Amino acid sequence: MKIPFNRQFIAKNTFEYTNSIINHGDLSSDGYFTKKCEEWIQKEFNCLKAFITPSCTAALEMAALILGIEEGDEIIMPSYTFVSTANAFVLRGAKPVFVDIDKEALNINTSLIENNITNKTRAIVVVHYGGYGCDMSKIKNISRKYSIPIIEDAAQCFLSQYKNQSLGTFGDIGCYSFHYTKNISCGEGGAILINNKELIEKAEIIRAKGTDQKLFKLGIKGKYEWIEKGSSFFISELTAAFLYAQFQESKSITSKRELVWNTYNNSFRTKFKDSKITLPPPGIDRTLNYHMYFLILKKEDNREEIIYSMKRSGVECTSHYQPLHNSTFGKKFERSNLSLPVTEFVASKIIRLPISPLQTKKETNYVIDRILNLVN
Ligand SMILES: *Cc1c(COP(=O)(O)O)cnc(C)c1O
Repeated sequence: MKIPFNRQFIAKNTFEYTNSIINHGDLSSDGYFTKKCEEWIQKEFNCLKAFITPSCTAALEMAALILGIEEGDEIIMPSYTFVSTANAFVLRGAKPVFVDIDKEALNINTSLIENNITNKTRAIVVVHYGGYGCDMSKIKNISRKYSIPIIEDAAQCFLSQYKNQSLGTFGDIGCYSFHYTKNISCGEGGAILINNKELIEKAEIIRAKGTDQKLFKLGIKGKYEWIEKGSSFFISELTAAFLYAQFQESKSITSKRELVWNTYNNSFRTKFKDSKITLPPPGIDRTLNYHMYFLILKKEDNREEIIYSMKRSGVECTSHYQPLHNSTFGKKFERSNLSLPVTEFVASKIIRLPISPLQTKKETNYVIDRILNLVN
């Protein structure tokens, strides 16, 4: 048996949509399918404005530009995240201020945020790990109290909610990913959700290379010009066509992942009941999108050996983030040797199991069997 960590799902309408683009011969950006994707997000997520971007990395970089992040600014974020969360702000000269996570959901520990706020803090960036929403009620309260905007790295969150509200719509800005490792994927792609009306116009200019091209396209101006800092944040219509087919099937993709996730969870919840192994938390107040299934092993377990043994049985399991605060580059931002104990423990003991809408019950049971053989 060979079970990859992740498999690309091809939606039914993929061929029809991409063929229509090829037949037309117009692959230029911001066309029919890009708009369809944006409208889909706006409607389904109940969000003010969405723009499709080349990646979540690009969406985060765009967020930093929209908020006018500058040299010397401080950005609060978890250390347990992907490098793009930090890079977006570091590229503008800001300093990431790394905060520890809570040991259940592996999201930023909300009780540690206020201690890290200074008069230089310009944003709180939260990451909803595995599509499990952060406690947005608490984070919104902190944001209001100090008038600091929230940016949500919702890269893994397609169709996830907190208290029946879509993730990525709580902060001023939310960023999604359609990278091939995510639930809904077009290889490389992303979206930026703008939830603050005052930021929409700025976003329109920044994504169009800092120009007022939008007014030109609408026929309001005869030509467009450079009016702001900006870059290019569009995708090809060919990619957008592929993506829109995925959006249309996103609910059934999620249900297929749910079956795999529940099979893992039902089995491990019983088997590890009296063990120190930690499983993903139950979704109280959350609608899950079943992005990831993980186990946090015990202190004495050798994770690398377990990953290697799984691999020999044909099952591809993975670890996750190297904490940013003690990475080679991340250390440069730290005052002293910052210690984030939960982040460090989780990063050394987490193991993620294969999950995809194409994974069969037989494959999932095989993974469970192999894991139970190695871990107890
Ligand atoms: C995948 C991911 C990203 C990067 O997304 P890309 O679309 O590959 O740029 C950023 N943050 C988190 C939390 C992610 O999981």
